[in-house]
Amino acid sequence: MSVIKCNCEKCKIFLNKNKIYYSLFCGCEDCRQAGQWGYSKGGPLPDRLQKLIYVRSDIKDVEGIKYMHAYQLRNNSSSTRIYCKECYSIIGIDHINYKDIVFMLIPKLCKTDLDLSIKPVAAIFMNDYPYKDISMISDDVLFLKDFKDENINNKYNALMSPLRAKYLKPRGISFKQLIKEVEGITVLNLKKGEEILLP
Ligand SMILES: [Zn+2]
Ligand SMILES: [Zn+2]
Repeated sequence: MSVIKCNCEKCKIFLNKNKIYYSLFCGCEDCRQAGQWGYSKGGPLPDRLQKLIYVRSDIKDVEGIKYMHAYQLRNNSSSTRIYCKECYSIIGIDHINYKDIVFMLIPKLCKTDLDLSIKPVAAIFMNDYPYKDISMISDDVLFLKDFKDENINNKYNALMSPLRAKYLKPRGISFKQLIKEVEGITVLNLKKGEEILLP
């Protein structure tokens, strides 16, 4: 049974399944802003290009629910993130497109005993990535500037479809259910794309 913990270890999410379905690099503004906001509150320093991993939305148990708080960047955000309100680690992220089958985490922004050796299969939203350094993206990683090129989209879908999790009724609670049980959802009203300075 794997665990996702915040850095101060007050918050713990125990998973029913240890499997990581896939990993991506994400250059989008929102992943970056959410990491920067956490850092500005005393949380972990995000990587410039963040590595995301996806696990099944099936939670066996949680600890420290009173330290968890759900946030959205703006009104009607598609993503909801659970932070620890003591250490501002992000311990899980829901997006409406995940349909509560999986949820996402950013290993750099929390702690986990999941096997993190999995390599990202694609780098997405790279048009929104403001830095020059892309040396972390090896040649075998599919590079998507946006989702506007049909050819690349087809390649991406072909790559992803065998990796995507199919719906199974969770044995425990789902990540969306956890969001309902924690404090929040607080809307931060951050300006879209606005960078919060890192050191
Ligand atoms: Zn914490
Ligand atoms: Zn993103």
